[in-house]
Amino acid sequence: MKVICSKCKGNNIKKNGARSTENRGIIQRFKCKDCGFRFVKDDGFFRMRNSPQKITLCLNMYFSGVSLRKIQEHLKAFYPHNSSHEAIHSWIEKYPKVIGDFTDTLPINSGQEIQVDEMEYRTKGRQSWFIDSIDTKTRFMVSSLFSRTRAEGDLKTVVKEIRRKTGENVKVITTDGYNAYKGVITRTYGYNRHKLKYNIIHRTRNASRGEGFNYKIERLHNNIRERTKIFRGFKSVQSAQSIMKGYEIYHNFIRKHQAIKCCPYELATGLKLTENNKWLELIRLAKKNA
Ligand SMILES: [Zn+2]
Repeated sequence: MKVICSKCKGNNIKKNGARSTENRGIIQRFKCKDCGFRFVKDDGFFRMRNSPQKITLCLNMYFSGVSLRKIQEHLKAFYPHNSSHEAIHSWIEKYPKVIGDFTDTLPINSGQEIQVDEMEYRTKGRQSWFIDSIDTKTRFMVSSLFSRTRAEGDLKTVVKEIRRKTGENVKVITTDGYNAYKGVITRTYGYNRHKLKYNIIHRTRNASRGEGFNYKIERLHNNIRERTKIFRGFKSVQSAQSIMKGYEIYHNFIRKHQAIKCCPYELATGLKLTENNKWLELIRLAKKNA
């Protein structure tokens, strides 16, 4: 593993003793031979007062549907120190972003059809939206956004990310009848002057006109609703964004999907996860690739 000086970014590094810590075992110290800076490598849990096992246990409980209050009750029985409501909440907000910064760089080998939809939420009493998308072949949640509005700009953020991650794979994007999608999807993919058509087919299915449902994303939304019941009101849009990111990671990497009998990432990405504690493995991978 390559170690880089956290001050001058040089790679002329030597080991410089080890320090034993209460929560994270023995930690190797390093010294930079160029600038003399002494440091430890951040494995994702630098300066945390709790063990990686305890933190990732909480992430797993929370995103699989256990309430914050219940988690705290469990912790009090087994890990009585440093288990405040605020501490747990801060991990739930922090780690999805750490992992997401890494998993969002993975190219997605999707099928040809992506379904996009929005769900309505309340954040501090005000309307807000979760806009998300699923690859119908691998069931991977490709991109999502939590926002106060579902204006064209918000939809565009989600569609642009789909295009960036899936490249040329996607031929069809399916939505409900919400008007704002049309222009956003065709403009994001562009028009081919030689073939005289858009680079994407935008298909709409309007349930209120009896055209049926987009089952795969509807089923995903039922699952998300089931989980987010326990999220209660979100504290802020930012907080909601990172919590929903955590749910996305849970859906893509942690939970086995019943229809495909594996996790969506196994079909959609080249990533291989081998440890039982995949939260921990993802956090370490994210730090290594940061
Ligand atoms: Zn240095």
